[in-house]
Amino acid sequence: MKYIGAHVSIAGGVEDAPVNAHKIGATAFGLFVRNQRQWVAKPLTSLNIDAFKENCENYGYSAKHILPHDSYLINLGHPEKEGIEKSRSAFLDEMQRCEQLGLDRLNFHPGSHLNRISAEDCMKRIAESVNIILDKTRGVTAVLENTAGQGSNLGYTFEQLRFIIELVEDKTRVGVCIDTCHSFAAGYDIKTSEGFRQTFEEFDRIIGFDYLKGIHLNDAKKELGSRVDRHNSLGKGLLGIEAFSHFMNDARFDDLPMILETPDEDLWPDEIKKLYKLQTKQNI
Ligand SMILES: [Zn+2]
Ligand SMILES: [Zn+2]
Repeated sequence: MKYIGAHVSIAGGVEDAPVNAHKIGATAFGLFVRNQRQWVAKPLTSLNIDAFKENCENYGYSAKHILPHDSYLINLGHPEKEGIEKSRSAFLDEMQRCEQLGLDRLNFHPGSHLNRISAEDCMKRIAESVNIILDKTRGVTAVLENTAGQGSNLGYTFEQLRFIIELVEDKTRVGVCIDTCHSFAAGYDIKTSEGFRQTFEEFDRIIGFDYLKGIHLNDAKKELGSRVDRHNSLGKGLLGIEAFSHFMNDARFDDLPMILETPDEDLWPDEIKKLYKLQTKQNI
């Protein structure tokens, strides 16, 4: 079965995420585990934690269908001492929050070299960051998200993601999330059936489906290979709604959190319904 949701708000506390997901008819959800615009956030209280777990249970969400996203401030490949230290301690804090909430994965954008170090050195730093943090935590997988390759962001090719995974010591706790908009912007033509087939044949050969821990479902505002990260609502961008039927009718994407990060949250209930309607009968 396919599990679909959106990246929902935690404005009233993390415990609101499952409630907000339920309101839009989601079977999965994404969330931040703290305020994503600040380096330091208040710790979670036992009230937050208990309410989060209770709400997940009441609305039927299990950890494997929940995909937390790290703060955008974090750069685990930061070229400088202060930047990398801040990033590592913030990411560690987020991994610990996931542990507290009973979550098993944390999605992050791998990192940026900021034109101060080589791509290779940056990827080595990212892997080193992951190793340090995995050493200090238990049960939570660090999930590398493929990027659009905008600016100096790395992780926009399957080869780069593989390079990082290769250097991670505990391969049981590293994974990958594929963002449809980022893939298209990075030059993977998942719009056509043939392009989709080829892209995921490559993905399987270079990374392997065992590492796949989530999908971000976004339409794209910019053209194939633009390297520009601009999400659009499903069907309103250059991918078009049909591109999503490839995902909805492919069993390799079963049982994973598939999360909308589309710009108009009023459309989320409808987008979820539309996605389920794309499934042909044999696949339900
Ligand atoms: Zn994404
Ligand atoms: Zn994006």
